[in-house]
Parts: sequence; C-alpha cells; structure tokens
Amino acid sequence: MPDLPFSAHAAVFEHTRDGVLVLDRAHRIVDVNRAAENVFGERSVLLGMAVEQVLPGWLPPTLDADGGIPRETVLVWPPTGSLRVLSVPQRDASGQVGGWALMLRDLVGSLEAEATLRHQKEFSEAVIRNSPVAIVTISREFRVLSWNPAAERLFGFTPQEALGRNILHLVANVEPIRPVAEQTSREVLQLDRVHSVTQRVRKDGSVVDVELLALPVAVGGQPVGFIAIYHDITDLQRARQAAEAANQAKSLFLATMSHEIRTPMNAIIGMAGLLLDTALTPEQRDFVTTIRQSGDALLSLLNDMLDFSKIEAGRVELESNPFDLRQCVESVLDLLAVRASEKGLDLGYHVAAATPSLLEGDAARLRQVLLNLVGNAVKFTERGGVVLSVDVLRAPVEPGDPFELRFTVQDTGLGIPENRRAGLFQPFNQLDASVSRRFGGTGLGLAISKRLVEMMGGRIWVESEGIAGRGSTFHFLLPARAAPQASLGGPRLEQPVLRGRRVLVVDDNAINRKLLNRQLVSWGMEPVEAGSGAEALARLESGGPFDLAILDHRMPLLDGPTLAGIIRGQEAVRELPLLLLTSFDQRDAQPPGLFFSVLSRPVKSSQLYDAVMKCLSHDTSPSMPAPSPPRATREGSIFGERPAAISSLRILLVEDNPTNQKLALLVLDRLGYRADVAVNGRAALQSLEQRVYDVVFMDVQMPEMDGLETTRRVRRDVPAAVQPHIIAMTANAMAADRRECLDAGMDDFLSKPIRVEELIAALRRVQPRLEVAPVTAAPVIPRIEGLDPAALTRLWHSLDGQVERMLPELIDTALHSMPKLLDDARAALARGQSDDLGRAAHTLKSNAAYFGVTGLESVCHDVERSADAGVLDGLAERMEQCQGELLTARRLLESLRESVAARATG
Ligand code: ADP
Repeated sequence: MPDLPFSAHAAVFEHTRDGVLVLDRAHRIVDVNRAAENVFGERSVLLGMAVEQVLPGWLPPTLDADGGIPRETVLVWPPTGSLRVLSVPQRDASGQVGGWALMLRDLVGSLEAEATLRHQKEFSEAVIRNSPVAIVTISREFRVLSWNPAAERLFGFTPQEALGRNILHLVANVEPIRPVAEQTSREVLQLDRVHSVTQRVRKDGSVVDVELLALPVAVGGQPVGFIAIYHDITDLQRARQAAEAANQAKSLFLATMSHEIRTPMNAIIGMAGLLLDTALTPEQRDFVTTIRQSGDALLSLLNDMLDFSKIEAGRVELESNPFDLRQCVESVLDLLAVRASEKGLDLGYHVAAATPSLLEGDAARLRQVLLNLVGNAVKFTERGGVVLSVDVLRAPVEPGDPFELRFTVQDTGLGIPENRRAGLFQPFNQLDASVSRRFGGTGLGLAISKRLVEMMGGRIWVESEGIAGRGSTFHFLLPARAAPQASLGGPRLEQPVLRGRRVLVVDDNAINRKLLNRQLVSWGMEPVEAGSGAEALARLESGGPFDLAILDHRMPLLDGPTLAGIIRGQEAVRELPLLLLTSFDQRDAQPPGLFFSVLSRPVKSSQLYDAVMKCLSHDTSPSMPAPSPPRATREGSIFGERPAAISSLRILLVEDNPTNQKLALLVLDRLGYRADVAVNGRAALQSLEQRVYDVVFMDVQMPEMDGLETTRRVRRDVPAAVQPHIIAMTANAMAADRRECLDAGMDDFLSKPIRVEELIAALRRVQPRLEVAPVTAAPVIPRIEGLDPAALTRLWHSLDGQVERMLPELIDTALHSMPKLLDDARAALARGQSDDLGRAAHTLKSNAAYFGVTGLESVCHDVERSADAGVLDGLAERMEQCQGELLTARRLLESLRESVAARATG
C-alpha cells in the first residue's frame, strides 16, 4: 500500500463516518474526529476527558501475545442500545502500547435511524394529540391503551380516567348501545375494518351521535388490538334533520298553496262551465269560453310550479292515454290567441299530414311544453308572428314502433344571443332583468319543458341568430305511438259491450257460482257454470266460444292458476281472457302473464264490473259492438243526458268549502239530483248514521277529519247492508293520490275542478250496482237463534231485494252441497291428504259463513287451520263435531227458508 501524504490521513480521520476517539496511555481523550464530536460534544470539552465519562464500561481489550490484531467489542450504550467499538492499540517505537484509537462503528447511522424513529414517533403523537377527532387505541381485551385530547373532549373522561379501562364499560354502557358496540368490537377483532354511524355515551350519561371507524392492528400478522376513531356528528345529524324538516315544510307549503288556489279556480272553471250551458249570445259564449280556458291555463300554470318541485324530487309519473294531437295543439293556440291578437301577431300552426291524429301518451304534459314554448314566443315577439309546426321525422318501420315527431315553435321576436343559449334550460334563467321585468315570468318554463321532454324520451334545443326581429326557433323531438282510432271515448260508459258476452264461471263452491252468475246476468252477460277445473275444460272444448273465464283460486285437484296454465296451453282457447278471484293474501303470488286481472275476495261488484269491462273492451274481437262516441260536446247541453232519470240516487256531498259545495249542488241539481250536505267528516258520519245514502261525494282535504279517515270509518262502522258508493273529490290528481283514495276504501275518484262530463260518468259507474234493484226501504231481516244477524244483513244486502226469489234456491244449493263437502273432507282425512281436507273445510266454512251459521263455521275453521298446518291428529273427533254442526245448520237454514217463504206469501 503506498504511503498516503499526511494531509490525506488527516482528511480520512476527520471525515470518516465512524467516530474516532484517540486515547493516551491513561485513557484520556487526546483527539476526536468530527463524527465523534457530533455525538459526544465539542472537541474542546472532550480533550483531556477520561474515556469513562463518554463510554462507560470501555476497557482496553487484552491483547494477543503478538498483540497485533485489533479487537471489536460491543458496549451497552443507552442512546441506541448497543455500540460496536474497534479498539486499535497505538504502539510506541519500543512496541509498547502507548494509547488507543477507538473506532466507534456505525455511530452516526444508528444514531440517525434512532433520531428518525423518534422523530416519526413524535410526529404521529402530535397528529394524534392535535387531531380534532377522537382516536383511541384498544387492546384485544378491550382495555384503553391511548386516549387523545379529542377523545377527552368528546367523552369527558381524562386520560387518567380512561387508560386501562374497558372501552365498552367506558362509552357504551347502556342499552341498546352496548350490544351493538360489542358486535363492532368482535368484528374488528376478526381483522375486519368497521365503519358505522352509531351512538356512544359520554361521562355525564348523555348520548352522542358518532361516525365510528374501527381498524384492527396486527403486528407480524398477530392481532394485538384495534384503533377506534370517533367523529362527533351531532351537528351533521341536526343539520340533516333540519334540512328534512325544511323540505317537508316546503312540500306542505306547496300542497297547501295549490289547494288554496285551486278552490277559487274550481269555482271559476265550474261556474263558467255552468254558464256555458245557459242561453248565450255567440259573443257571450266566446267570452265565457275564454274564461273557462284561461281558468284551465291558470290551473296548469299552478301545476307547473308544483311540477317543478316534484320533477326535482323525482316524483313525477307520466300518464299514457290516447289523445288527439291536433286538438292538443289547437287548445294551446286557443289559449294564446287573445294575447297574440292584442299584440297584432299572426299565430299559426301546421301539422304535417303524415302525423298520426291519435297518439298514445301524456297529453297534458305535451300541452304544458307547447304552452310554454308558444307562450314565450308570443311574449318575446313584438312584430310578425309565431308558427307551431309538427312533422314526422321518422315513421315506424315495424308496426307498433313509435313515430319520431318534431315540434317546432318559430317566432320573429327578440332572438337569443349565442352566449345566453347555454344556460337557457336551467331553472330561473332569464336572459336579462330588464326583459323579465317587462315581460314577467318565473324562469321555470324552459327548465320544466326540458325535463318533461326528456322524461318522454325526447330532447329539446334552440336555434337563434341572436338578432332582434330574426327571432328564435325552439325544436323538440318526441317518440310517440299512434293510438287506435276507436280508443277515445269513455270505455266505462258502454255497457252494451257486455251484452250477450259468454263467461265461464269456474268455482267449486256452488254458492259463489250462483252469486257470480246472478251478477253477470244482471249486466246482460251469459254465464256458464263449471264446478271444477275438469268440468271447465270440458265446457271450453264443447260448449261453444267464450269471451271470458272467471276462475276461483282454491279448488280441489285443479286450482285456478293450474287450470289457467292448461288453458293457456290449448290452441283453441289460448287467447281467452282470464280473471282470477283469490283470497287477499294470495293476491300477489300469481305467476305473471296468466291472468288479465286478479281480484281479491270478497269482490265488490263495482270492481268486478270494472275488471270485466276492461277485459272485454281490451279485446277487439269482431263480436264487440263499437263503443259509442263521447256524448258531451261543448256546444250541445251535456245536461240533456240527465242520468238522474235512470234512478233516484240518495246523495251525500261532503265538502267543507262553501263555493265548492254550491258548485257541486248546482251541477247535481241540473242533472236532476238533490243532495244533502255534510260540512266535514264528522258531520258526514252523523248523516250516514241517520240516513241511508247510495252515493257519497267525499272531499279529501278537509279540516278536522279528512276524507280518507272518514271513508275508513264509514267502511268500518256503517252496516254492510247500507254501505254507500264513495267517490273521492280531490285537487291532487296524481296517480299516487288516486291509489291512496282507493286504499282508504273509496270506489271512485274525481279530480277537481269537477267537470260535468266526469261527474256524469262517475254517476253512471254507480248505476250497474244499483240498476239491478233500486234500494227501497231498509229490508226487514228475520232473526233466527243460531244465525249471525250481521251475516244475514250482509246476505240480504248482497241479494239486493231479490231475497224471496234467490234465497230459497241458495239454501237448497247449500243443503245439497254441504254434506258432500263434509264427505270429501272425511275421505281426505282418511287418505291423510291435508291439502284436500283443508280445501273442503275451507269451502264448507265459507258456505256456513255466508248464511251466518257460526257453529259450523268455527269448527270448519279449526279443521282448515289444522289441515293447512299439516296436523291431522285429533281431526276425526272434529269431523264428528262437524257432522253435529251440519245437522244444526240444516235445521237453521230450513227455518230461514220457511221464514222467507212465509214473508213472500204473507
Ligand atoms: P319565463 O318565460 O317564465 O321567464 P322560461 O324558462 O320560459 O321562463 O324562459 C327563460 C328565458 O328565456 C326568458 O326569460 C327569456 O329571456 C328567454 N326566452 C325564452 N323563450 C324566448 C323566445 N322565444 N325569444 C326570446 N327569448 C326567449
């Protein structure tokens, strides 16, 4: 090795990463390099110091005989734990050890690593200490290991109080928080991260809403505990609740406001309607028509405001009905014609010849969009005119495909500058304040239009050069299906649709068959009865064509859905429309596609009527007579119809608002009806207690007791025999509101403002029920010990004054079929077939219930329940009881028959 110059030695000594201490013979420090200085302090202090003071425990190593090889030793050294020291003896010229050079290995590296660690630890501790969220570390035994100041602030425990305590005892010590917290802890110990919004308890016992993030901590794969981070979300929760409350208040405000405005609107539109039916000069007629139409427009504007909030909330449902496109377009122009002519504008329209005249869709929504676009065009145009045109952009390729229609509204007005076009369809966007001050408007119209067009599957845009006088053109495209020509007109009015139609009635219960039969005959239909699935199939095969089949659900061997499946599989009758009558709880359990409609028992005759009507108006078989055209026109008097001539209904009008009352009474009066008035729900209940009414017109929104609650009470409290037909009258025309009325037990629904045509139609729908036998004086029902009087009342009512004719026949049927049912039940029990047993017992039970034979009913009920549960033990004994009850039933029914016969002859 070549000798290094001294300066090089000095540089190596000075800058090597090992610390070097040079000792004299007495082990005092005589020199240090820079690395050692960094660790032990300044050179001036170190020089002359005994090495003991900086490296306690260092001893000179014993040297080999030749003394040549330096020794590395390991010292305990607190700052890093240990220190490797290479001790190199310094020999003088005589070879004696005259001192030592101690090379302190890795001194800086380990010190640096230690410093980094310490730094990191301090950093994390600072983060945890200063964190605004509570951070707690917890052992596997749920002991608190660390507790930061935010935890102290959140829960109120100091670290001294918290450390070492069980976290569940500390902050989750009440029901029902504790079990949830235990579950969380268990999950996190299984090394799952848990994130939840939950509650914990403070030191003072108060409960706090927290968002909790719990993370497992594992060292070397071994779970050692977990970290829980609690975020106080009290304020967030409060803000959310406040926002919800505000939102509710807003909806309520909108609903109330719309109700308040609709009430006078109702009067304006309704009175204008009445006025139109008096002798008027053409000019007067025109004025009144405008009042009526403007009322309509105002109402739809009101709807716009409601709509926007509903659309925003995603709560708008589109309707789909046939409508006349030209009529829709014309009605928009009619409404704006006055304004246009005041401004001297030409207002024109053009509907391309290829456009289908009847469309399937939501006419009101389309009208709303057109009204807005044409309204704007008229508003923002001073000279020239506005043209609305409709053309077919794409005709359907396959039949049944939609048309693509283009609607264009072109004006010669102010135009819209390029830079303002982008935000035009945003809500509350008006081009400039001076314009909107001059022209008025809410800035909602285009936003609503855009949303509606998009909901209908189309898109909308605007073109404009932005030059005053050159105007703007709004376009929108809509997919639209053509509706069949015959689809307009009230389908429910045409009862002839039912005349002569053949219905197959399939029910194993003879009484049910009779009742259905009678009902169908009263509508002019021709029912054919089948007592079982097999018989039904035979009739379908050989009994000539049927228009409809009504199937009972629960029948032995072939139940309704199975029978339906078989019918669907047979070529000749595959298309036959099927209705299923089922118990309420099985209503939703039907396989889809088999039935045109599923009705739950007991079926109201109005429901059955509607279902049958719908079913048969739907089918377009040639045997169906064409529906008659809509009868009412604005020119001729709609009152000419006078359905009052058909029967004299006793009507109760429940309405709190005097104007609405007056209007409805006037309309009814013109139709030849007189009605009593109840001013609220309570008064209505009183009236119904005192008198029998056939029809109740029920306002829905009323103070004190609303129409829904009143209806529920009527349905609950009024005897079945005198239940009225209830027609809701409400300003809320949405589908959901309709559902709510029907669910409350109403039979029908009219939206306000009430239109005479609709009122007449509703009254007509009452007729089928009453036409059979106008209800006369309340019938006198015999009392027979052992027969339930309520059931008899129901029975009398259901037979609508035909008791003398029908009841003996029904009793005979029952006396004939009930013993057979008991035999069936016995046989099923003997075979151990609980299904068949349950069915027979069920039918026997409903037969008994029909006549109010409570003894038999209750035994059969027990048998049915046991059979349904598959428990056949002890039923033999029950059968004996049944037999006894059946004998009693025979006696009771015979005396019922006698009492009816006596009355008929007496
Ligand atoms: P409103 O008309 O109630 O203010 P809209 O959403 O219907 O609200 O229209 C927003 C704005 O768009 C209007 O205020 C007007 O500035 C501009 N605008 C709409 N239609 C036209 C048009 N045909 N010509 C010129 N400007 C129009």
